[in-house]
Amino acid sequence: MEIVITRSPREAAIIAAGAIERLLLDVDRPVMGLATGSSPLPTYRELIDRHRNGQLRFTRAKFFLLDEYVGLDSEDPRSFRSFINSYFLDHVDAPAGALAVPECAKGDSAAVGAAEAYEQRITDAGGIDLLLLGIGGNGHIGFNEPPSSFGSRTRLKTLTAQTRQDNAGYFDNDPAKAPRHAITLGIGTILEARHILLIATGEAKSEPIVRAVEGPITAMVPASALQLHPHATVIVDEEAARQLEHAAYYREAYRNKPAWQHI
Ligand code: PGA
Repeated sequence: MEIVITRSPREAAIIAAGAIERLLLDVDRPVMGLATGSSPLPTYRELIDRHRNGQLRFTRAKFFLLDEYVGLDSEDPRSFRSFINSYFLDHVDAPAGALAVPECAKGDSAAVGAAEAYEQRITDAGGIDLLLLGIGGNGHIGFNEPPSSFGSRTRLKTLTAQTRQDNAGYFDNDPAKAPRHAITLGIGTILEARHILLIATGEAKSEPIVRAVEGPITAMVPASALQLHPHATVIVDEEAARQLEHAAYYREAYRNKPAWQHI
């Protein structure tokens, strides 16, 4: 696991976008997994800028959403499909149909089949080359709320009261209106991505980050599963890094990285 501490969320976005740019150049048919939420937004803005100045093309890429609310119409502006289109894919040259999402608009009864079908689509695409993640205040990745088995596959999860509270801003500031269920890539599914990039910025993320990075591996902190991954990069700004005991070592290691090694 590599920890990269940046001076600002903007610098975190530049480093993440650099890894994505290299993927697009190196891999013939790149497959990306995309998180929603505020953490990856500066990265999406940076990718859009690089596309507009002619640096990046997305025509050969395929995209999978990390998670989706159950029971929201796919055109609902609060669905994660709408989010990722309006903050990212609508502004680049991704072909129509390049985004795959769990088909869970119909609600809980259809969700089991939708989760299995979605997992199969990821397998059929050859797996995920690079997966972007955020982290929740409770240590969740995707909607894998604690506890989440590290062997879990894409499935329906029930959101915690805290997560519904965190997301209430999109639902008239009323947690009761936030969906109760979501389909999320499982922890086992996430760990199969070839490269994982987790982005966390701001003071509120300092506790889940220290638990995920330096704490014990436990289903109660789903992001701690990343300690088991052979190529996981955690990009944090100074504020999110505040509680890390070994921050000086992470800084030194990153500063002295051989140029060819990349993240
Ligand atoms: P955020 O959400 O990026 O909006 O903080 C992250 C998450 O809850 O996974």
